[in-house]
Amino acid sequence: MTVTNALIACPECDTLLALKNVAIRHQALCPRCGVVLYQPRNKSIIYTLSLSMTGLILLFPANFLPLLSIKLLGNSQEGTLWSGVIGLFQEGLWSVAVLVLLSSIVFPTIIIVLSFLISVHLYWRRSHQHLAVWMRCLQHLEEWAMLEVYMLGIIVACVKLADTTELKFGLGLYAFVSLLVINALLTQNVDNHLFWQHITKLRTHDPIS
Ligand SMILES: [Zn+2]
Repeated sequence: MTVTNALIACPECDTLLALKNVAIRHQALCPRCGVVLYQPRNKSIIYTLSLSMTGLILLFPANFLPLLSIKLLGNSQEGTLWSGVIGLFQEGLWSVAVLVLLSSIVFPTIIIVLSFLISVHLYWRRSHQHLAVWMRCLQHLEEWAMLEVYMLGIIVACVKLADTTELKFGLGLYAFVSLLVINALLTQNVDNHLFWQHITKLRTHDPIS
């Protein structure tokens, strides 16, 4: 796969450059400041499609199956991702609850759904009037999904509770960790330049090589 006849602006020094023939495993560097302008990803569309489909399957168990089961003084209690958010709301920690809700549930879900919608259209070479909007949203949302923060919270809670309670990891936790990995791989794998190139060609009905 090569990229041809595209203009790209350096994000560091604003130099406008013609990007030509960037092969897989190679990088395009800005001649003025040296920043990496573009690094093509191998089979980005099919990998994004596969990862997003796996993410869609994992969304339900990660959100609604128990992450942890805590047994204290004979009482057992299970907690899911949603019950954690609801608990924060009930405690009056509105700002934290909204932040956790957005960064751990809403944004990762939107990223997976958008990645699926975009990659399925690009893979089957089907145009859609909202493809460009979806792609813009995806690029802006990538930095807002922070499943790692929630994961860190779970690890801290486990360490603190390990001595006083009996902890049992639920299926939801395994799904959540898998979702975290899928999200990280998706962010790393989406080749923005290639995706935009295909979206433009689909819009202008140019053949995709
Ligand atoms: Zn530059």
